Amino acid sequence: MLQAFLLLGLPFAKIGGQSAVRFDTGNLTMYFFGSVIRINEFYLILAAVLFMLLSIVAVSAILGRVYCGWLCPQTLLLDFSSDVAGLFSKKHGAALRRVVLIPMSVLAGFSIIGYFIPPEDILRLLFNSKPVFAATTALSLVIYTGVAWLGRGFCAGVCPYSMLQNALFDDDTQVIAFDRSRSDDCLKCRACVNACPVGIDIREGLGRECVACAGCIDACIKATAKKGIRPFISYSGKVVRPKTFMLGGTVLVAAIVFAALLYFRPDVNFIVARDPIQPVKGVNRYVYALQNNTGKSFTFRLTVDRPLVLIGEPEVTVPPYSIKHGMVMIKAKTSVSSVTFNLVNGTKTLKREAGFL
Ligand code: SF4
Ligand code: SF4
Repeated sequence: MLQAFLLLGLPFAKIGGQSAVRFDTGNLTMYFFGSVIRINEFYLILAAVLFMLLSIVAVSAILGRVYCGWLCPQTLLLDFSSDVAGLFSKKHGAALRRVVLIPMSVLAGFSIIGYFIPPEDILRLLFNSKPVFAATTALSLVIYTGVAWLGRGFCAGVCPYSMLQNALFDDDTQVIAFDRSRSDDCLKCRACVNACPVGIDIREGLGRECVACAGCIDACIKATAKKGIRPFISYSGKVVRPKTFMLGGTVLVAAIVFAALLYFRPDVNFIVARDPIQPVKGVNRYVYALQNNTGKSFTFRLTVDRPLVLIGEPEVTVPPYSIKHGMVMIKAKTSVSSVTFNLVNGTKTLKREAGFL
């Protein structure tokens, strides 16, 4: 449930006035837990993607398909809908599950749209924008088809992530396994088979369909407890081994690099460039961009060193997570070849040099 709240709620949770996680398609900007990453900050995106890929490799190689059983939204929708349907009818559980999945799929589609559109605009756009309505409807239909009709078949035959995980396994990866050395003592009650959501018999070995939900372990624990014997199914593999430290260390380094890049990034980026067209002799025109990377609003005072004179709006306010573009003119009373811009905010000053004709 926690995972459901996280996945569905992240775009709607606010940090610093913006979504906790959202990619703003209009501004090509990613909001990420109080930080803003713009599409031109490629190094940050690269570091984040690298961290995610390394995490997937490490978790899959050490803990197997733990994502499939415990974190995958598909698993969550299937488990939750089965539980709800089971409350009302055991006999018509499958049909009821498909009904329960309709509002859940719509909610999931709505939430995915929330990852791209500001939460405060979604409802308005949903009923006033044909593309937003069509995208939400199409997403809901795709999700519904995936969970209600393909079900676990999607995990076994379609999901690319499941195939990738299987390729990352080695002999020590943690998997769910039947203890073959005790197979003669198995009660043959088939509780493990009946509990399996993908319909495999774990006693015959690990199948590619297994989503590591541990349902067979629970079923076997119950069945064997009545007889006072140890269960035949359990987790197998070695978590603590050299590969764990190697992969874990690599992920940690990637996380530190990403966090450091975010932490040491300046609060404000200040870019200034001279317009090549000179309006009047002795006067140069400059365009500037101020990029506020924080959730706070900043007001700056723009000045130039004497004897140059700044003509234009000297005070600029940049709202949180936004970019402000502006233009000023600089007049020189004597011959100069460059100009120094000072962007002053309290005790902090950012300086930029530009040429003067
Ligand atoms: S074999 Fe066990 S762990 Fe794997 S999907 Fe079936 S019940 Fe879940
Ligand atoms: S639940 Fe346990 S005891 Fe029963 S068939 Fe499966 S492995 Fe054997």
